[in-house]
Amino acid sequence: MNAFLIAVLAASTPAPAERLDGLCAPLRQGVAIDLAGTSYRPEQAHAPDEPLAAVDARQSMLLLPDGRFLLRTSNLYPGDIEFRYRTLGDRNGERTVDELGWRDGDVLQQDDAATVARDLADLRMLAPGLLACDAIARNPGRPAAGGAASFKDGAGREVTLAFDAAGDLASAKRDGDVYRYEGWNTDAALRLPATIIHSRDGRERERWTRVRARPAQAADTALLSLPDGYRPADPPPSLRATPLGDGAYRIDGAPSGYHTGFVVGEKGIVLFDAPIDVDEAKAVRAVIEKAAPGRAITHVVISHVHGDHVAGLPAHADAEVLVGAGGVAALRRQLGDRLPARVREVTHAETLELGDRRIRVLPLASDHAATMLVGFDPASGTLFQGDLFYIPERGAVPVAFSTGRELATLIDSNGLDVRTIVGVHGRSGTPADLRGAVARIPARNDRGCVGEQMTGAVACSTATE
Ligand SMILES: [Zn+2]
Repeated sequence: MNAFLIAVLAASTPAPAERLDGLCAPLRQGVAIDLAGTSYRPEQAHAPDEPLAAVDARQSMLLLPDGRFLLRTSNLYPGDIEFRYRTLGDRNGERTVDELGWRDGDVLQQDDAATVARDLADLRMLAPGLLACDAIARNPGRPAAGGAASFKDGAGREVTLAFDAAGDLASAKRDGDVYRYEGWNTDAALRLPATIIHSRDGRERERWTRVRARPAQAADTALLSLPDGYRPADPPPSLRATPLGDGAYRIDGAPSGYHTGFVVGEKGIVLFDAPIDVDEAKAVRAVIEKAAPGRAITHVVISHVHGDHVAGLPAHADAEVLVGAGGVAALRRQLGDRLPARVREVTHAETLELGDRRIRVLPLASDHAATMLVGFDPASGTLFQGDLFYIPERGAVPVAFSTGRELATLIDSNGLDVRTIVGVHGRSGTPADLRGAVARIPARNDRGCVGEQMTGAVACSTATE
């Protein structure tokens, strides 16, 4: 581009101060936003050789000038396992519920004003018009043409806005977080980027490729609601080994809430999973040593190689680790030389001999993870599984995901006489719970209109209420 053209463009491009006004003005009464895109989650992929899962992410939000807000999120993990949460808040606090009730059941999570301040500031990074309003309100100096604008966000953190040569907002930075705004529309009354990319410490975390928004309206306050039937959490139980009968146990009260399972035999102990970090796994190991004094943990069966299920493995350096086909490379990638020395891939169903009892280890071709293994203890009728079937700690047995059907098929095809199904997540259940939950799997998951609620069809907005 020659100097003359640059001069002409500079003269015809509004300075960022005017751009800030233009971005902010339509949103002074608040904004309703729908986003859809991809969220990148480390060590949650279906294939063991992929370090990142590309999760289909949706988000709807309503942000009002007085601080009241609604946030709905839907994230679809491999196996179509959907996390769907709704948060309702104001400047004094926020309440969050698990809309599908499979992970947190009927628990009403309550967070304080300091959490709200951070959450609201994070949400505003996805609404560049509101950042413009913040820059105007909190930065009396106003930016010069081509310059950056800085202000402190609602949680007291420095945010710096940068503008591109055309005068559009190019990015917002705050500590290690960078939000890039690309492909600004030119014709709409409400200026929006086509894409918002969020990175932290140089790693892309979310890429929103469908960005829709509209100014908030008075009627939107009707959207500020939570579904009924949720109540605050009970105090967590203390860390202990809960007997399931006949030498089978489940760990309860771990800090993460995850449940390690184990079976005690004459010749050793088989453990199922090692969540979620080394400290927790060490604490769990101490509880097991008390429950079965003098017996060694001889095997750790890994349900699948997702990071939260394996990160405690270094606490069991003396045990043999059994993992699904292709899983050893994933464990090495995650744990390096902290991975126990004896690791073996299980490609066909096999039986572990513990002297007075045998444990079956069954590979399962699951849509959630290619490395899926299920453990079964015939003596107690206990089946151990991770992420195939969920029942929350408290609340109704939810609808299963398709992975629940995979588990039911595995039980049938192997003729397993199951009495108890122990999940790494949630309370234990029965085969009848599983069958009931599988029978209710819908033909098609509509995501509850999350990501379309605010700006989508009217039918979508009303169907969710
Ligand atoms: Zn998983």
